[in-house]
Amino acid sequence: MATMMQKSAAQAPVARSSFGVAPRVGRTLSVRANAAKKLVQKAEYIWSDGQEGMDTRGLLFNELHSKTKTLDTELSLDPSEYPDWSFDGSSTGQAEGNNSDCILRPVRVVPDPIRGAPHVLVMCEVFSPDGSAHPSNTRAKLREQLTPKALEQDCWFGFEQEYTMLNASGKPYGWPVNGYPAPQGPYYCGVGSESVHGRPLVEAHLEACMAAGINISGVNAEVMPGQWEFQVGPSGPLDVGDEVHLARWLLHRLGEDYGIVVTFEPKPMPGDWNGAGAHTNFSTEDMRVPGGMDAINKAIENLSKTHVEHISQYGLNNDQRLTGKHETCDMNIFKFGVADRGSSIRIPLPVQLKGYGYLEDRRPSANCDPYNVARLLIKSVINM
Ligand code: ADP
Ligand code: MN
Ligand code: MN
Ligand code: MN
Ligand code: MN
Repeated sequence: MATMMQKSAAQAPVARSSFGVAPRVGRTLSVRANAAKKLVQKAEYIWSDGQEGMDTRGLLFNELHSKTKTLDTELSLDPSEYPDWSFDGSSTGQAEGNNSDCILRPVRVVPDPIRGAPHVLVMCEVFSPDGSAHPSNTRAKLREQLTPKALEQDCWFGFEQEYTMLNASGKPYGWPVNGYPAPQGPYYCGVGSESVHGRPLVEAHLEACMAAGINISGVNAEVMPGQWEFQVGPSGPLDVGDEVHLARWLLHRLGEDYGIVVTFEPKPMPGDWNGAGAHTNFSTEDMRVPGGMDAINKAIENLSKTHVEHISQYGLNNDQRLTGKHETCDMNIFKFGVADRGSSIRIPLPVQLKGYGYLEDRRPSANCDPYNVARLLIKSVINM
């Protein structure tokens, strides 16, 4: 009898294939089931709750969550080989307490650069118990915009993710305990302890992103001391969103080790300090070939008509950043220009000189949802 139970437990595919709602089995059986398999892999399931709340400092706190699943299987980077899982949506603001299970479905798997091989990071989409995409699942909404016309245009996105490092008391990292640092000027792309703060975290994060296979294209110190930027891309619409989320998660996670809080708040310091944005560089096939300036101009014309819709989904508190000062355009105005950092859409100078390439949407804020930004750009430029 004991042998039979052990055998059936070992064969039961429950732990790998269920939605995490494993049938209740006898305690003896589950203990034997555990003993029968050798757990070798840690998979960190990561998802966004799609919400932007305030923390006690009045800053937006991050919308990412994760939990670890142990597996007895070989390393694979194929998301379809990872089981669905579930979580308590009532604890992340994604469900009511009386029906709170939400489902995590793996969509992108990368090597975990912190735990090392064979461990992985697993980016997930969130589904409701009835199998429909959860309202917070903006990746699913983006998938709906990937029409044949959009796929044919092979859209590329380059996402400039700015962020601000804070110390434990919520002040920008490296700022004097009392008062303020010297005014902005020497910090952008700066070097030296007097102007740059937090480089060890930046370096660790860059190394981690590269080891994870994230298409990170660079990093730089930003205009406000304690503020930095990393860029992801150029990558396709789903990839760029997945990789921005994974890179954000790695930044928060490594920040734990360095005692640094990372915020994507659009305007962490009021007054004469730059806010934090997420300029999104965008191109279609038509824009990237000689003569592409026509397609770029047509795209800008379309974007001028959908400005209000884009602004409404480009990040909470973006109004504090898009004031018309500090290298931004007033959010109530749509403006484009060559090499103009006070515009909504900028045509980079090298693109103007060549006559083709890409455009830069300067409106998204640092806390925007990259799936939303990609969806709106495809919708307005291609599917409108
Ligand atoms: P900035 O001069 O605005 O600071 P960055 O160098 O920080 O620009 O970022 C430019 C981004 O544009 C990079 O992520 C890069 O990968 C991306 N990029 C380059 N070419 C294209 C293209 N054809 N389509 C979309 N993105 C592109
Ligand atoms: Mn619990
Ligand atoms: Mn940049
Ligand atoms: Mn920047
Ligand atoms: Mn830029």
